[in-house]
Amino acid sequence: MRVQNRKDEPAAYETQIIQTIRQDEAGTTQGAKLIQAGELVAFPTETVYGLGADGLNGEAVAKIFLAKGRPADNPLIEHVAKKSDVRQLWRRIPKQAQVLMDTFWPGPLTLIAPKSDCVPDAVTAGLDTVAVRMPQNKTARSLIQKSGVPIAAPSANRSGRPSPTTAQHVFEDMNGRIPLILDGGPCKYGVESTVLSLAGEPTILRPGAITREMLAAAIGEVGVSKSVLEPMREGETAASPGMKYKHYAPNAEVIVVLGSPEQTAKRINSLIREAEAEGKICEIAATEQTKHFYKGKKHIVLGDRDEPVTLCTKLFSVLRDMDTRADVIFAEGIPAEDEGLAYMNRLLRAAGFHVIDASQA
Ligand code: AMP
Ligand code: MG
Repeated sequence: MRVQNRKDEPAAYETQIIQTIRQDEAGTTQGAKLIQAGELVAFPTETVYGLGADGLNGEAVAKIFLAKGRPADNPLIEHVAKKSDVRQLWRRIPKQAQVLMDTFWPGPLTLIAPKSDCVPDAVTAGLDTVAVRMPQNKTARSLIQKSGVPIAAPSANRSGRPSPTTAQHVFEDMNGRIPLILDGGPCKYGVESTVLSLAGEPTILRPGAITREMLAAAIGEVGVSKSVLEPMREGETAASPGMKYKHYAPNAEVIVVLGSPEQTAKRINSLIREAEAEGKICEIAATEQTKHFYKGKKHIVLGDRDEPVTLCTKLFSVLRDMDTRADVIFAEGIPAEDEGLAYMNRLLRAAGFHVIDASQA
């Protein structure tokens, strides 16, 4: 129910949550009605929760920016229910796109190509390219299908916060700002999709669960934008505008420690002694390989260092959780390659690139 509306503020709503595990039909039917009426709906995907609007309606899309507090120059992703829907969104289909769609869709891969005229400027932030993805999640696809339009969506967090991986996270950020959250349980991957630009040479703008190696096996050489592991410098233009902004950042200070499991744990323990002596509350995002070093210290195991996918799944939810208590969060760095690239990309941004190398004495 809509309560009020002002131009400079998002409308106020009584936010409803519908559990799609039990009520998928009812939830997606109601969600589709809202999308068709130009309203916003938060919905689960296999990556993170999305905040969707009718992707062909510029006024509806503008509400996403208002609800999130998102800078107007950061474009959104169009979500489609079937591969052939890309035809209305892209001016032409790049040659590698068909192979990639056939190999990885539905799934956590977003493809960028020159846009057609029907895509509103609000979606692309004025760029002449548009990002498109076909999600795997059944609720997401059913919502898009019933809406009868592509759904433009970024992650459903307030701008600058870690992306939401549960409906509760969305509620924390969006309560009162949107009419409906579809609750499909925790997200399978927990980090956002891989974003691959096909506007020039194939280039990864944001790493995700579909790795460079997987993409290269399908289409040959694939580059990685240097903004993936580096902060943007003053005056530099971003290939992907999302890289410009402070992302995934908790209020607590996040410090990444690099080295072997033993070196890392030893250094974290000594840094914690110093920080606690200054009265700071510390927590550790630990791994299976290091948890035994942290007995008696507040820590949560993210997963296995040798299986970065497990670290990705829990990273954002653990950061959100620790942020409610800790002044300083220590996290373990891993090699930024293969599946480790997505983890390190998110972690380094959460830490504002604050890294300590424990392999150096
Ligand atoms: P989110 O899923 O919330 O992270 O938002 C979508 C991401 O896709 C942002 O990082 C955008 O910068 C990126 N993106 C969307 N469209 C484009 C585009 N046309 N060119 C480059 N990056 C894009
Ligand atoms: Mg986002």
